Amino acid sequence: MENILNKVNTVSPANTHVLRCVHCHAVQSRPDPMFRCTECTELLEVVYPELNATNMEFGLELKKRWKERRTSIHPEDLSGVWRYRELLPRIAKEHIVTMGEGNTPLIRLTKSAEALQLPDLMVKHQGMNPTGSFKDTGISMAISMARSESFEAVCCASTGNTSASVAAYAARSGMKSIVLLPSGHVARGKLAQALEYGARVLQLQADFDGCLKILHEVVRKLPIYLLNSLNPYRLEGQKTVAFELMEQLGWNVPDHLIVPGGNLGNSSALGKGFVELRDLGLISSMPKISIIQAAGANPLVRTMRENGGRALVPVHPETRATAIRIGNPASWRKAVQVLESTGGACEEVTENEIASAKAELGAEGIGCEPASASTLAGLKKLVRSGYVKSGESVVLVLTGHMLKDVEYILQQQVRSLPPPMPADAVSVLRVVETLQKEN
Ligand SMILES: *Cc1c(COP(=O)(O)O)cnc(C)c1O
Ligand SMILES: [Zn+2]
Repeated sequence: MENILNKVNTVSPANTHVLRCVHCHAVQSRPDPMFRCTECTELLEVVYPELNATNMEFGLELKKRWKERRTSIHPEDLSGVWRYRELLPRIAKEHIVTMGEGNTPLIRLTKSAEALQLPDLMVKHQGMNPTGSFKDTGISMAISMARSESFEAVCCASTGNTSASVAAYAARSGMKSIVLLPSGHVARGKLAQALEYGARVLQLQADFDGCLKILHEVVRKLPIYLLNSLNPYRLEGQKTVAFELMEQLGWNVPDHLIVPGGNLGNSSALGKGFVELRDLGLISSMPKISIIQAAGANPLVRTMRENGGRALVPVHPETRATAIRIGNPASWRKAVQVLESTGGACEEVTENEIASAKAELGAEGIGCEPASASTLAGLKKLVRSGYVKSGESVVLVLTGHMLKDVEYILQQQVRSLPPPMPADAVSVLRVVETLQKEN
């Protein structure tokens, strides 16, 4: 049976797109393999020339259509990315690679909310994606693009999660995947995923930035599709979290959104999603989007502090939050733009602050990666400085799943685990009795 909602989509005015330079605005007739502007080498973004405020009625129609798709039986309607396809580049249905990405829960915090006097404090848990991180939303989009352009192999440099996602989606689509990882700095769970999903994994004696540089040489010479977040189609997939979040909030815009910042693709995508909703008249105000980095990997913090966002200050990154261990972020210009246009803050947090925030989330039954917990650590600082005021609504974007990095947790929690004891009911009872008296 032909999908009726799909038919409606073919008359949607928005989704013809062009690639345009974020800096000099040159429209690219054919993108180079590294998705850099042919005039000035800056990054590109996807632009929909027909998407603008004159389409107000179209905006209202979209809300209805997106809601209806949730009860469909078609994979492309149920995907938390492809459900919003009117605002994505058009891809033929047979090229869409989906595993039901997106569709992640929005969960209200209680203990942290009370401690910070923020009754409206929530987490959007992107770790609940098919491979356990938000990367799946972007990879679903970009790998579908690779397929529609008839590529047979895809590649990425990765701090871990992109490689897991690329490996899985490539396997689903029948393409080969090659991933470059910084040796010794990838959480074990992510490495295991990439191997199990069948990627060719190369560990380089370099950090993430070094891996990406080498990969550029590879895609220049071989017909392999680049899936790093330089790829503007990734951000199109990732921006859909803004749409899904607004649906979950009944279209009430929160005061603050807080994301961790590594290569800065996620924060850029989130900002782009909200701008498009505003331009369509689906929302009338913007949330302040704040970006949190680890103090040991803080190029954006330094860029904002030292020159107001005009020129990137690269750093040698060091943090145990390996997902954001990046010193030379590709999307820094886009991220500066998001900070400036939404009035967001850019803050750094220490390793200890990340660890305690992570444990606090854990104690509420919310597991996440160290990088994700930087958002709660950052929020605490922003409350202390008065930037976030009591009573304001806040959504923390948790980017990755707890089980990605179990070693980190076990190192933090060693003291919570008593040594092994004899299997003897009397001594167990004695311990349980003292535990019961504790509270
Ligand atoms: C990739 C990743 C980040 C960083 O996102 P960027 O888009 O690189 O800024 C943060 N947390 C997790 C868990 C990630 O996988
Ligand atoms: Zn340019």
